[in-house]
Amino acid sequence: MDMSFSSADLAFREEVRTFIEENYPRITNTRSRGDMSRDDMLAWHKILAKKGWVAPHWPAEHGGSGWTITQRYIWNEECARAETTPLLPFGLSMVGPVIYTYGNEEQKKRFLPGIYNGEDWWCQGYSEPGAGSDLASLKTKAVREGDHYIINGQKTWTTLAQFADWMFCLARTDPDAKMQESISFFLIDMKTPGIEVRPIITMDGAHEVNEVYLDNVKVPAENMIGEENKGWTYAKFLLGNERSGIAGVARSKKAIERLRNIAASELMDGEPLIKDGEFGRKIAEVEIDLSALEVTELRTLAAESKGQGPGPESSILKIKGTEIQQRITELALEAVGNYAHVYAPHGKGEGDNAFTPGPEYSIGVAQNYQNMRKTSIYGGSNEIQHNIIAKMVLGL
Ligand SMILES: Cc1cc2nc3c(=O)[nH]c(=O)nc-3n(C[C@H](O)[C@H](O)[C@H](O)COP(=O)(O)OP(=O)(O)OC[C@H]3O[C@@H](n4cnc5c(N)ncnc54)[C@H](O)[C@@H]3O)c2cc1C
Repeated sequence: MDMSFSSADLAFREEVRTFIEENYPRITNTRSRGDMSRDDMLAWHKILAKKGWVAPHWPAEHGGSGWTITQRYIWNEECARAETTPLLPFGLSMVGPVIYTYGNEEQKKRFLPGIYNGEDWWCQGYSEPGAGSDLASLKTKAVREGDHYIINGQKTWTTLAQFADWMFCLARTDPDAKMQESISFFLIDMKTPGIEVRPIITMDGAHEVNEVYLDNVKVPAENMIGEENKGWTYAKFLLGNERSGIAGVARSKKAIERLRNIAASELMDGEPLIKDGEFGRKIAEVEIDLSALEVTELRTLAAESKGQGPGPESSILKIKGTEIQQRITELALEAVGNYAHVYAPHGKGEGDNAFTPGPEYSIGVAQNYQNMRKTSIYGGSNEIQHNIIAKMVLGL
């Protein structure tokens, strides 16, 4: 396995680094997605769409950049290094690939440009109360009436549905068939009468997730992807894409750098924490884990570039990646100590947000700690990933 970068790769790194430095809109003064406006979240997306870099993994005919897997890796590293706002995955990485893989020509023409240009915001309507890990037991029903389907049910944990123009949604179309053979995949206009979005406020005080109620929602039959009752195939294809890139190695490196800065701050009471051998050991431990994860990710990439698609390795990357992300937020919380005041979610600011309990470096640390608990739950919980490894790798 050759893991060194070629001179062409190094030149590419320079090119993308310069582009980010010159074009990234520094609109965000907070790291929480729950605090950003729709326009804030789409600003970088739109700049990249104009440049032709917003969907590197898409086929060239739909706007993909044609980058190699190594170039995509370098791109992700450079974005993390510059702390760019992550692009929303729902259109670009989830439903987009489903549409260009399984959609008909009409659907490709109608939906792909809006996803690519950042005009249409998508949300994911998979989970329901009682159907998360066991997704195939979902109860939302779609009944065909002429050239429409009438959809009734409830979705939950629907990320950023408050901004969404469209939702991709799984619904049961044959009550008598086996669970996996009776699900269809619909594209639903969020302005359709009968859709209600209700916020779920999470423990960090953010409005990032929602419940979505569907009450006799009329969806044109042409908005169904592929064949009726074959939706599980498309749903699984999408979940495979959701897990790739979830290791977040480059962003964890940046988070460790921030952690070191906090621990080295002269503003700490007494000696800076970084001088405490025990705390230094904890940081070193997580850095070692991160290096091991990075090598595992590079090994997976090397195999992928030879055409061997990621298999159960993506479950290993998901578990270790999210454990490391959570560990870093735990250490940051430990480092800020009393200043991790939970009742000042937005830190320094205007009006209700004016109060902040500690120095600049403490802002957002507690909220980030709380927010990152989600990473071991979504994208298939870590327990479910352990089950996949047990079955696929260990043959249990
Ligand atoms: C912040 C956040 C954002 C999300 N965004 C979206 C979204 O946009 N769209 C969407 O559709 N969904 C979304 N989800 C939902 C997410 O996919 C589910 O939460 C996840 O699949 C787990 O399902 P559940 O919450 O119903 O928990 P359950 O499936 O009820 O699991 C509860 C616990 O039991 C464990 N468990 C369950 N089954 C097994 C098993 N067989 N073996 C071992 N342990 C098991 C789980 O690991 C978990 O710890 C989001 C979730 C979160 C937290």
